[in-house]
Amino acid sequence: MIITIDGPAAAGKGTISAYLSNKYRLAYFDTGMVYRAVGLQMVLTATDLQNTTAAFKIAKELTFPQMMELSLHPDFRSDIGGSAASVVSAYPEVRAALLDMQKNFALNPVFADGKPAKGVVYDGRDTGTVICPNADLKLFITASTEVRAKRRYKEFLQKGLITTYQKVLADMIERDKRDSNRANAPLKPADDAVVIDTSDLDIAAVLAYITPLVEAKL
Ligand code: C5P
Repeated sequence: MIITIDGPAAAGKGTISAYLSNKYRLAYFDTGMVYRAVGLQMVLTATDLQNTTAAFKIAKELTFPQMMELSLHPDFRSDIGGSAASVVSAYPEVRAALLDMQKNFALNPVFADGKPAKGVVYDGRDTGTVICPNADLKLFITASTEVRAKRRYKEFLQKGLITTYQKVLADMIERDKRDSNRANAPLKPADDAVVIDTSDLDIAAVLAYITPLVEAKL
């Protein structure tokens, strides 16, 4: 069973993915991590984010354990990590270098403790269009820019990260623009994806809508 959940930042993909993977005992691959790992590695080594050759080298050499180690860094989930990820993810060579790691996960999906799983929930931008075009169920989760910026700002505050709503909103607009306009794998729903706008829905309503869609595929 493969479920793909795509959409812009802070639309609710992470919460939905975590819920579905837990409820249906599926592994979870948050594909934004591969780009955050490359972006953060560039930041930590003071490499210019515009240096495509360096980004490609880091992407080519990235391993799953390295990505997990980088994910422990405080800036992995901050707007520094997110913005750097958004820049490097626009480079076609970087995307190509990280493709196999993401695709291969579905061949032998495992839980965080290494135990095998019967399927996987992919969370990302292009998982229904590029990574798993044959997924059993494809969801595209979206929400207005302001609603998403408010959610992300609240998350940052809860994590104790220092920022302002205006900065989060400006970063979100910038990131959306980059993600939607990049030449390869732009952010868009797969033709056969179910599109859900969560702007006016709470998480319980979203999950109530999605659950029958999953059950129909089981
Ligand atoms: O989802 P997350 O915020 O962790 O993603 C960080 C960035 O990585 C996104 O803004 C996007 O530019 C990029 N990304 C991508 N393709 C994916 C997942 C994330 O381009 N499948």
